[in-house]
Parts: sequence; structure tokens; C-alpha cells
Amino acid sequence: MADDFDAIVVGAGMAGSSAALRLAKGGTNVLLLERGAEPGVKNLSGGILWGNDLAELLPNWQQEMPLERHLVRKRFGVLTAESAISFDFEDATWNRAPYVAHSVLRARTDAWLAHQAEAAGATLVSSVPVERLAWEGTTVRGVVQGGETMTAPVTILADGTNSRLALGTPIRPSPRLSEDATELGTKEVYRLDPKLLEARFGVGAGEGHAEEWVLGIYPPGVMAGGFLYTNRDTVSLGVIANLRSLFDAKVAAHDLVEQLKQHPAIARRIEGAELVEYGAKLISSGWASRPRAFHGDGWMVAGDAAGFVFSNGIVIQGMNYAIRTGIEAAETALAAREAHNASASRLGEYTRRLEDRGILADFRDFEGMDRVKWNPRFYTAYPKFATELFRGLFGESGGPKQHARRLVRRAQKAAGVPTTALLRDGWQTLQEL
Ligand SMILES: Cc1cc2nc3c(=O)[nH]c(=O)nc-3n(C[C@H](O)[C@H](O)[C@H](O)COP(=O)(O)OP(=O)(O)OC[C@H]3O[C@@H](n4cnc5c(N)ncnc54)[C@H](O)[C@@H]3O)c2cc1C
Repeated sequence: MADDFDAIVVGAGMAGSSAALRLAKGGTNVLLLERGAEPGVKNLSGGILWGNDLAELLPNWQQEMPLERHLVRKRFGVLTAESAISFDFEDATWNRAPYVAHSVLRARTDAWLAHQAEAAGATLVSSVPVERLAWEGTTVRGVVQGGETMTAPVTILADGTNSRLALGTPIRPSPRLSEDATELGTKEVYRLDPKLLEARFGVGAGEGHAEEWVLGIYPPGVMAGGFLYTNRDTVSLGVIANLRSLFDAKVAAHDLVEQLKQHPAIARRIEGAELVEYGAKLISSGWASRPRAFHGDGWMVAGDAAGFVFSNGIVIQGMNYAIRTGIEAAETALAAREAHNASASRLGEYTRRLEDRGILADFRDFEGMDRVKWNPRFYTAYPKFATELFRGLFGESGGPKQHARRLVRRAQKAAGVPTTALLRDGWQTLQEL
């Protein structure tokens, strides 16, 4: 019996819509299923989009997509209870078209991208929470929803982190994600008059400012980073925390942003702004979060569902990998259609493409990053050490002047940082970063 579609894509996020768009442009009868009432409503990013892979699908994406601001400056630093230590990176090349990165709000961008796929010929159906994959032995024959099976030779799983459809199947045999390799992102969006926003953040019209912080503001044991991104007339403020550390320290997730926004360095910049949106989402990043395989008989897995979020404490990038892996899955499905063969060996082209593009290396080569990133000293002892040191270096106590080496020793003592730990952690960070 003939299949209902040439390909089925589950999830209209960046990965799924990119895949469906490429498939539709390749003349494929593709079904794109989304559980949200509209693509994007369920999705959440910080979010800075390094989206130039989109140019392959939509050459004018920078003019047409509902983007917020193009990034001109990135600030990185450490917050402790009463201080902020940071450095800014500003690059004139970032302020020229084609821009390297944009702040985005996913409810807008994802709806737009999904509708581009629809305009190219994909069948987009929203409000459809796919219940499970239709397995026939080790082959995926399509998807099941509401007791109905929709079939296709190829199904692309792009249903994001914590993929319900993959967990407990040959794709991810374990029925749940590991708490150690999982982060929880919480985010609030504040409305701010664009002129006031530009004055507060020192940017011009259309220009954007991004900042990411190691957060030494929480009770000991909580390992978390914060972000603040400027949008057109809003500011996105959020925290990404190691899930295990929240359980262990018994800290409620909703307190994280609450505490961050009261920090003096943050509070004055969102003063008077109105909360308009909030959300939370899991992130399962890095090599440890990969599925058992990226392809099999009749299936491929792309984007967050495959663990393709690069997060090393300095950057978090997942949307670019979602777009790229969505495109690679679609290219593979097009070739499989041509060959009338969607077996695991044919769809192995997808994994080869991920390898050739250097995507797998991006994750494999940074496998040790989690060990560095989730070192409790980075969230308690080192922020305290840095604060003590900079108070000594930049301040004036009225007492005798101290050599920098004495200030370092004094800060180490105050923060309880032995030299051996400092050298070991510094060396390991240099190796893994
Ligand atoms: C707090 C936070 C900050 C982040 N910041 C950044 C950033 O600044 N830059 C960056 O590049 N990345 C960032 N990321 C990561 C980025 O959001 C993800 O990598 C990206 O969204 C992955 O896209 P995706 O299409 O794979 O998955 P998703 O965006 O999660 O999309 C999956 C889609 O599948 C749908 N779906 C799920 N299950 C089903 C089902 N059963 N049936 C039908 N549909 C289903 C969902 O509704 C959703 O639309 C951040 C993530 C978080 C949580």
C-alpha cells in the first residue's frame, strides 16, 4: 500500500521546519506535525541566533525573518552577591550586513519559518501531539496520533529535548534523561521602550547587546549561568542551571531569575520594565546527551532531540545546529527518495554528513567540557576569589599598598582556594574550552 507522505517531520522548531522547508523545496510531499497551537508557542531560547545556515534555504532571511536586533557586543563575566566582573567584546564586523547573529523571540521566528515551509508546499498541521513512532520491528513506518497511523518511508524526529518519542525506544533506550547531563533554563521577557533600552545598553537603533554571566549569587552547590539579551522593545533575562545541583541544594527553579533580577548590575537596567512573558525548558546538551544512533531504518533524529546543543559556559548555541542538522536530514531523505531506499544503510548518509560537516566533532571534541563547566568551585569559590582580588586591585583601603602576588594570596585565603586547585582547574579549562 502506498505511503501517506514521502516524509514526516515531527516538531516545527528550527530543526523540523528547516527540514520540512528543504524537503518541500525538493518537491517532496512532506507532513510537518506540531503539538503547539501555532509553531513557536512551545519553544524557548535565550536567544541569540547564529542563523547563517538559513541562507541556504532562504537567501533573504535576514531581511524577511522577524528578527529582533543584530548583535554588536557580547559581555561575559561573573556576578557575586554585590559585585560584577566582566569584559566586553565589541567587533565592528558584527555591525555590518550580513550580520553574524541576531536576538530572537521564538514565538515569532518559529511561526515564520514553519509558514515558509508551508508556502513551499509542506503540509503543516498544528495542535497535533504525536503519541509515538509507528515501529515495525526495528523500522519506523511513520507516526501514531489519536489511534491513527500516518505513514512515510522516512520520519525525521525533531521534537526537541526530552524527546518523548525517542525515550525508551531503540533511539534512546533509557526511559528518561540523566539529571547530571540536563540543564533547566528559565526565562523572563520584560518590555522596555526602545529608546530607553538603547540608552541603557549603549546601542543604536537595531543594534543588540548580549551578556552571559557565571552566577555566584546562589546558595553553595547551585551551579548556574545567566543571560541577558536585548530585543526590539523587550529584554530577555534568564538562568540556565544544572538540574542535579538544583535538586541537591533544594532550590526552587522560579527563585533563580527572581534573585538574578535583584542583582544591582541587572536591576538598574530592567528598572520600570514590564514582565510580559516567562517560561522554562530543559536543555540536554553535549556528547553525553546523544542518542544511541542518529539514524536507523526509516528514521533520523535532528536538533535538540539528538542533543545538538553546544553549551560551554561561555556560549550556548543550539538553534544553528538545529537548522544545520534539519537541512542535512532533509538532504539525506531526498537522496533516499531518489534511490527508493530508506534503510538504515541508506540513511547512514545523514550521520556521514554530520561527520563531514564537523558537527559530530564539535560535540565529541568537547566531551570533557561538562566536567569543567559543572565544577562547583566556578560558582562559589572562584567568584569570591575574583571579587576579593579585584577589590584589592581596583580599590583603596587606606592601608599600605600591596603587591599583586599578596593580593592573590589574600583572595585565595578568603575564598578557600588552594593554589593546586587553581592551577588544576585553570589547566583543565584551557584543555577543554
Ligand atoms: C533557556 C534557553 C536558552 C537558550 N539560548 C540559546 C541561544 O541563545 N542560542 C541558541 O542557538 N540556542 C539557545 N538555546 C537552545 C535552543 O533553544 C535549542 O537548541 C533549539 O530550540 C533547538 O531547536 P529544535 O527545533 O531542535 O527543538 P525545539 O525548539 O524544542 O522544537 C521542538 C518542536 O517539537 C514540538 N514537539 C515536541 N514534541 C512533539 C510531539 N510529540 N508532537 C508534535 N510536536 C512536538 C515542540 O512543540 C517544538 O515546536 C537555548 C535553550 C534554552 C532552554
